[in-house]
Amino acid sequence: MSDRLVLVINCGSSSLKFALLGEHHSSPLLSGLAERLGTPEGILNWKAGDIREQVPIADGRHSSAMTSLLPLIERFAPQPLTAVGHRIVHGGEHFTGARIIDDDVIAAISQSAPLAPLHNPAQLTGINEARQVFADIPHIAIFDTAFHQTMPPHAYRYALPEELYSEHGVRRYGFHGTSHRYVSTQASLLMGMEPGHGAWLTAHLGNGCSTCAILDGRSLDTSMGMTPLEGLVMGTRSGDVDPNLHSHLARNLGWDLERIDHMLNRESGLLGLSGGLSNDMRTLVAARADGHPGATLAVDVFCYRLARSLAGLAVALPRIDGVVFTGGIGENSPLVRELTVRHLALFGLAIDPAANATPPGNPARQIQAGNSPAILVIPTDEERQITDECLALLDFNANQPVEQETD
Ligand code: ADP
Repeated sequence: MSDRLVLVINCGSSSLKFALLGEHHSSPLLSGLAERLGTPEGILNWKAGDIREQVPIADGRHSSAMTSLLPLIERFAPQPLTAVGHRIVHGGEHFTGARIIDDDVIAAISQSAPLAPLHNPAQLTGINEARQVFADIPHIAIFDTAFHQTMPPHAYRYALPEELYSEHGVRRYGFHGTSHRYVSTQASLLMGMEPGHGAWLTAHLGNGCSTCAILDGRSLDTSMGMTPLEGLVMGTRSGDVDPNLHSHLARNLGWDLERIDHMLNRESGLLGLSGGLSNDMRTLVAARADGHPGATLAVDVFCYRLARSLAGLAVALPRIDGVVFTGGIGENSPLVRELTVRHLALFGLAIDPAANATPPGNPARQIQAGNSPAILVIPTDEERQITDECLALLDFNANQPVEQETD
């Protein structure tokens, strides 16, 4: 059986994350992260099976990091690449699915840049560099926002003057779409349903956190909004606050926009609530066990707000087939799952303590008790989802009838 290969690239302003996946391989053949790009300390860490190595990127350039992938791919790819898949954070309203990258797609990603100023420009850099290094194969864009383009207007519109939406694109877009799509598909498989079917509430809990209501493979609502700041408490992001906080801080404390922006994105969330102790859930869970008041509060607020979000999103669904926990926290923290589900007893949700306590690293599993709707722990795999979407797009295009010339 031929094993098509996809190189998945996620380019940030100072980093380049990559993974080489085979269509029929369960884990990446090669993966790695180039960090501290833009500085003389640029470094590429990669692993393939048991081999792990570091390559200095002395000039710190994205182009050098991209070029340094070539010999690695020649070494570990059993055959030529089929495609390169690029993870793009914001596709605005332009994209409802994966797209082969051409000039129009690049122009649309640029147009959406004001909505994701930290991400889209860096990802365009990644596309440009990769197209030079990996020429002559399709490059495909996969958007974090695309999965949520099925949300109805009553879920995606803010109650703001109409022209802010129609002229400036101010609306809710949602993010983490690749992960929500992947885990909801896996949930249907785990529960013996037709792939992609079912009514799911999914919680992606990593450094960024979001929830989603999904019916038969379609996102109906999600907790993140125009930007990835809205919604849940996250590592360093506040999630929802009163929108008047901005004017309050400006008028009373003299804070400018940069300062407010920095505080909400970098100093808040778990870090802020814990009194600056940590943005890392592992540290907070350990400190909570030792009675640290800030850590206790941070975990409690995190779980309550998560439960409140899931309960709110339930109104988008006709029923609940299950709740899915994923991401570093969702997959690995029995405490967060337990405290969250405790707030959701109204929905008949209950956890089996023994199943919940199963050590991390286990594959997808059910942890509900008795007659509770399913509660699932499902490791996310965004690279696999991106690979599958790239290959599905290529297959779809290959099966399109060739246009007949008529004259
Ligand atoms: P990213 O969003 O950067 O991909 P991850 O999905 O890796 O992040 O999630 C990172 C979060 O997962 C951190 O808050 C980390 O503390 C948390 N995490 C990882 N392992 C555990 C664990 N065993 N218990 C609690 N939290 C954990």
